[in-house]
Amino acid sequence: MPHIAIIGSGPAGYYTAEAAQNKWGEDAHIDVFDRLPVPYGLIRAGVAPDHQSIKAVSRRYEKTALTDTVRFIGNISVGTDVSIGELHELYDALILATGAPNDRPLDLPGADCDNVIGSAAMVGWYNGHPEFAELDPDLSGRNAVVIGMGNVALDVARILSKGPTEFEGSDIVAHALAALADSSIETVTILGRRGPHQIMMTPKELGELMHLEQAIPKVDKRDLPPEDDDAILEPGLRKSVNQLRSFAAIPESIHGEKLRAIEFDFFASPKAIVGSDGVATAVEVERTRIEAGRAIGTGENYTIPADLVVSCIGYRTSPIDGVPYDARAGKFANSDGRILPGLYCVGWARRGPSGTIGTNKPDGYDVIDRVVEDIGSASRKQGGAGFDTLAAERNLEVVRFSDWKKIEDAELAAARDGAPREKFVDIERMIAATKD
Ligand code: NAP
Repeated sequence: MPHIAIIGSGPAGYYTAEAAQNKWGEDAHIDVFDRLPVPYGLIRAGVAPDHQSIKAVSRRYEKTALTDTVRFIGNISVGTDVSIGELHELYDALILATGAPNDRPLDLPGADCDNVIGSAAMVGWYNGHPEFAELDPDLSGRNAVVIGMGNVALDVARILSKGPTEFEGSDIVAHALAALADSSIETVTILGRRGPHQIMMTPKELGELMHLEQAIPKVDKRDLPPEDDDAILEPGLRKSVNQLRSFAAIPESIHGEKLRAIEFDFFASPKAIVGSDGVATAVEVERTRIEAGRAIGTGENYTIPADLVVSCIGYRTSPIDGVPYDARAGKFANSDGRILPGLYCVGWARRGPSGTIGTNKPDGYDVIDRVVEDIGSASRKQGGAGFDTLAAERNLEVVRFSDWKKIEDAELAAARDGAPREKFVDIERMIAATKD
């Protein structure tokens, strides 16, 4: 049976492991690597902490992880601790499921000002990703601007707008809960360079804005196209636009009752971050009009006050030495998941950052079909035993799934009242919990 290494233990990684297991049954040899000592990637560190029902999919991944055919190899950074070439020598197929953890850069003058943050950092901060736990965004100003009109922008706007009691039942980390409880933000402006018909937000997520305790969404009726024009939209987008219409119909009296507003600013393309002493104070935007779906600048500029700017404009896969990379698209160069003989990619690393968690399932099954076509079912490689020797020679501290369960137990035990867990946000503490 072939030896398979999957790099990345998020949804794409575990759906691929599940597919490999279905294909080869109990004889499969599947190692799932992660640079963190904890599994589940985007489920743990990307999905919003107040979306616990989405996070519950990790139980399915755990079922796969707990079988004898699949090993979790955590705390190992491929490209640093072990190279792609070395893993290639050991495994019949290497499948990169590394996601797209880096922000698409906000290429604007002033984007290097303090308090201009990418969504990877912001989301990582409130979700307790060790890389971003120290971010400490300054929430002492009244105005936040969120750039982009996708679901990540919605997540960020919603989290910035919630009061402490609205996080009950979530696993938002303590440092973010405390900072948000102290936040002075009153207005969150969501900035879209195109119009209501071009949003990437989904209806269910938009609908949540109607049920916030402290905040209310605001859409200017004049930005909405005539209702008849919605007929040409695909049904999901039509529902989303309907949500915007219901936001526009909220009476002014209700706005007055709320502490915070989430304002949608359409046809507004960001041109520069205005700063004072290197700290953001406003976003300069150019009014646009839409021609054939594209935003065309009108030459009319204005500024929006901004004490905090979060850019939610998409993500890019991290390049790995020795792996062909498509810099324009921000993902590995591949043809239907094939990169080079024996080297594959799946999920966001293959197709870019789009789709739901579930989109990764067919992706995982597809890539395993390709592996079978290419290498069949025989193996002459050493597989995991070879990796174990190499890890021992290098003194690498490998975290196994049973170790992760100890970390998880400690996180569950540390949970505040009503919360499912208190995530550990630094790697030393995670590793220490594996020794208990
Ligand atoms: P996205 O859906 O691709 O949205 C990106 C947004 O950024 C678009 O509105 C885009 O506008 C805008 N944008 C891009 N470049 C820009 C620029 N230079 N200036 C101004 N605006 C710019 O990406 P995402 O929000 O990061 O989401 C990634 C994926 O994760 C999506 O599939 C999303 O649905 C999914 N997700 C799902 C959930 C959920 O289901 N609850 C939660 C979070 C994320 P244009 O359209 O004009 O380019």
